[in-house]
Amino acid sequence: MENCIFCKIVKGEMPAFKVVEGPHSIAFLDIFPVSKGHVLVIPKRHVKQLLELSEEELLEIGKIAQKIGKAVLAGLNCDGFSLVQRNGVAAGQIVPHVHFHVVPRFKGDSLSVWPSGPKAEQGELESVLLALKKFV
Ligand code: AMP
Ligand code: ZN
Repeated sequence: MENCIFCKIVKGEMPAFKVVEGPHSIAFLDIFPVSKGHVLVIPKRHVKQLLELSEEELLEIGKIAQKIGKAVLAGLNCDGFSLVQRNGVAAGQIVPHVHFHVVPRFKGDSLSVWPSGPKAEQGELESVLLALKKFV
């Protein structure tokens, strides 16, 4: 993809603070970090969303995200980390090249991914379960 900033980072046409690289993916620092040590893990191949990733890419990205999680806990002394991945504009995805955010979390940082909702009715949980089970 010609105008994709993440493809440009993969090709070395744009600078990035690369943390680690595998055959199919790279991890680099987010330059607008939500918290200190915010890292993005992306496939080298340009695909927009999670569903387009191959099993091989998914596996490698998962392993790298885990490695980054370990590194932020040990190297930045954070208290935890969030793994966030958005698909589509409705989910808040801005860069249309699939990416996983590893966001270091600190006690009391008051970063909230979303507010918790009200407790669901039994009937609603049952119908949602039925709708999902047809497709898994
Ligand atoms: P999203 O909102 O999930 O699409 O996230 C896109 C992320 O990419 C944001 O957290 C941005 O701060 C980050 N970002 C955009 N451009 C760059 C760049 N050139 N280098 C590193 N991170 C970037
Ligand atoms: Zn791309």
